[in-house]
Amino acid sequence: MSEGGEVLMRRQAETPANAGADAILEQVVGLLSMVAGESPEPPEACCIAIAGLVDAIAGRVIISPNAPGFRNLGLTEPVSRALRLPAFIENDASAAALGEHRFGAGRDFNHIVHVTVGTGIGGGLVLNGHLYRGARGLAGEIGHIILDPAGPSCNCGSRGCLEALASGTAFAERARRLVSSGRSSILADIAGGEPPNGEHLFRAATQGDALAEAEIRNAGHLLGLGLGSLVNVLNPEAITISGGLLVLGDMYFGPMRESLASLAYGPAAGVEIRFSELGDDTGLLGAAAVALEYLEQGGGS
Ligand SMILES: [Zn+2]
Repeated sequence: MSEGGEVLMRRQAETPANAGADAILEQVVGLLSMVAGESPEPPEACCIAIAGLVDAIAGRVIISPNAPGFRNLGLTEPVSRALRLPAFIENDASAAALGEHRFGAGRDFNHIVHVTVGTGIGGGLVLNGHLYRGARGLAGEIGHIILDPAGPSCNCGSRGCLEALASGTAFAERARRLVSSGRSSILADIAGGEPPNGEHLFRAATQGDALAEAEIRNAGHLLGLGLGSLVNVLNPEAITISGGLLVLGDMYFGPMRESLASLAYGPAAGVEIRFSELGDDTGLLGAAAVALEYLEQGGGS
């Protein structure tokens, strides 16, 4: 990436997710070395954005759903040593928050709550123009705000988290429950014998299935309650939203806006909602923004 947010070079490879940490690390270093070697100008830093719990301050992945081998693994030190560059790491959603702030939908604001809605729900906080990391670099876990203590269980071990109620994974669960309830819905036909998933649910809803639509609207409503609670705590200027569920449009985000507005009071009620303009490059631009912020602050490991 250039400083201005232009993608100069792109290389992609499948993560050997089930291989051990060493194999994944070897691939990460190999890919980064290749890009650094082929770059038109020598890079000044690199940053890895990764899903999961990331201790950004210690440069360590605590746990990542996409790479089970990465458990309590120091990542920046070996990468920095191999590339002879300052190396940084950040949770992908926190990186996305900073990327939106520098290059995207959050560029007009100093205080943003960023939420990524996709398979899971992640988040990041930009406060006073900087990424807020908290005491151990773990801040921004918006997906684990609990909205229903008696609700479905979540990957994190709690019940009724926003992620367990309103993410892509939650939609798959909602679709399965709807089909097994036997209530009148075209969902089973659309799934055609496959286990019903979130995509089937959305297709049923767009074809006029009221029950499927009600599931999506309910999830949007809950997303608004979670975000509204955060808005009341943090009083951001804007909420920026990225991720695969943007395709759901008003069916999901309409109820979100309504419940958010009903919850947010006083000055918080005027919060702007902005959808990401960065598309698939949110992670890339986010990682670049994280590295740039460290370099500007004179940091480096
Ligand atoms: Zn959770």
